[in-house]
Amino acid sequence: MINPAELDLLRDALATMARGYSALPEFTPDFDQPAVAAVLQTVAERMQDNYPYYHPQYAGQMLKPPHAIARIAYAMSLWVNPNNHALDGSRASSPLEKECIVELGAMYGWDNPLGHLTGGGTMANLEALWIAGRLRPGKRIIASAQAHYTHQRISDVLGLPFAPVAVDDAGRMRLAAIESLLQQGDVGTIVATIGNTGFGAVDSLPAILDLAQAYGVRVHADAAYGGYFGLCDNLGPAARAAYDRLNEVDSIVVDPHKHGLQPYGCGCVLFRDATVGRFYKHDSPFTYFSSAELHLGEISLECSRPGASAVALWATQQLFPLTRDGQFAGWLGQGLDAAQEFWQRLSASARFQPLMRPELDIVVYAVVAASTSAASTAAREVFARAADAGLHLAMMEVPATIVAAYLPSATVDSRSVTCLRSVLMKPEHGDWLDRIMQLLEASAAA
Ligand SMILES: *Cc1c(COP(=O)(O)O)cnc(C)c1O
Repeated sequence: MINPAELDLLRDALATMARGYSALPEFTPDFDQPAVAAVLQTVAERMQDNYPYYHPQYAGQMLKPPHAIARIAYAMSLWVNPNNHALDGSRASSPLEKECIVELGAMYGWDNPLGHLTGGGTMANLEALWIAGRLRPGKRIIASAQAHYTHQRISDVLGLPFAPVAVDDAGRMRLAAIESLLQQGDVGTIVATIGNTGFGAVDSLPAILDLAQAYGVRVHADAAYGGYFGLCDNLGPAARAAYDRLNEVDSIVVDPHKHGLQPYGCGCVLFRDATVGRFYKHDSPFTYFSSAELHLGEISLECSRPGASAVALWATQQLFPLTRDGQFAGWLGQGLDAAQEFWQRLSASARFQPLMRPELDIVVYAVVAASTSAASTAAREVFARAADAGLHLAMMEVPATIVAAYLPSATVDSRSVTCLRSVLMKPEHGDWLDRIMQLLEASAAA
C-alpha cells in the first residue's frame, strides 16, 4: 500500500524547504512525542477500517488515493499551512494556484479565464450558478435528471427555480425536453453535464450550445468528474464532439480531486468571461490586502482555503502537464479502454447485462433476472458476495425505464432497479479485468 520511497522524498524536500527559513534564530516547535505516538497508533488501527481504494480490486465508487507527488507536495505545505485567501498568508502558494488556473484554462482553450480552486465540485458549481443567477436574475436553472443532485439543492440555496430534464436510454438529456422547457421563456441557464456521476454519460453539448444560442440562455458545464477526458485520443465520436466545443460554454467546473490525481478538497471553477469577477467585490474589514496584485479571496466565495491544494496540484501539473499526448492523458485513456473491454465482457456473460456503452470510464450493469425487482435483489447479493471475495463494487438505483431498454425480457415490477456500477479509474484496471470477471461470475453463481 505504501511505497517507502515516498517518505524519503518527503524528508529531503522538507529539509530543502526549511533551509529557506535559516536566517531566523533557531526555533523548533516541541510536542509530547509519546502521547502523540500513542494516539497515532490508535488512529492507524481505526484507519484499517476502509475499503482498499488504492487496489485494482476496488472497482466501485470514484475513489482512489492521490498520486505520490500530490500527496508529498500536500504534506510538505502542512509545515507552512498557507491560506490562499490573501497573498500575505500564501506568498508562494497563491501564485502557484494562479498558474494552475492558467493551465486548466488552456486545457479548455481559454486564454484568460477567471477561476480558482474550491473545496470541491459542489462549491465550484455553487459559484458558477450564483454568477448565472446574478446575470439571469430569477430565471430557471435546468439540468439533467441524471445531473449531480447538488444542482437542484444549490438552486434552492440561491433561490432560483430549477427543473430537471428527462434523459434518454444513453443517459443524456433529451434535446426535445430541453427545447420544450426553453420555449416556456423562463430558463436562464442550462447545465450540461460532461460526464454524469452515475453513468459517465456526456450531454450532447453541440446541440445544447445551438439551442442556448437560439434562446439566449447561458450554458454551464459541470465537468467535475469528466473534465479531463478531452485530453484523450480514444473518445467515441459523440463525446469527442462535446469536448471539442467545451470552450464555448460560459463556465466550467472540474474536480482535480476526482480525475486530477489530487487529495480531497480540490475542485475548480472557471469563467470564460473574466469580468464576472465584479460580482465578487467585497470590502473585508479583516483582510489586509497588501498589494495591488489579485488576492484570490477577492474572487472566491470561500474565504480561507488550503494553499496545500494549490501546492499539490501545481506539483502534479509540473510532472504531468495537461497535454493530449502526455502520460496523464494516457492513463485516462487506459480507463476508457478498460471500460469498453469490461462492457464487452459483461455483454458476453449470461449473468450480467451492461446498460449503455460507456462514454468515459464508468460501467453500469444489471444482474439478469426475470423481473426488475429480482434483478435488484440479485445485484445486492452479488455486491455483498463480491465484497467478501475482495472485489469492491458500487450500486446505483437506475430508473426501470432505462434498465428495461437493455433487459427487455425482464418484467418491470419496480420503479427503479438496483444495478452494479464500476468506475475503472486506475490505469491498472484493464490488466485486472480477467480477475474482476472471475470474481464477478463466481459471486453471481454462488
Ligand atoms: C462529484 C460531482 C459533483 C460534486 O462534487 P464534489 O467534489 O463531490 O463536491 C458535481 N457534479 C458532478 C458531475 C460530479 O461528478
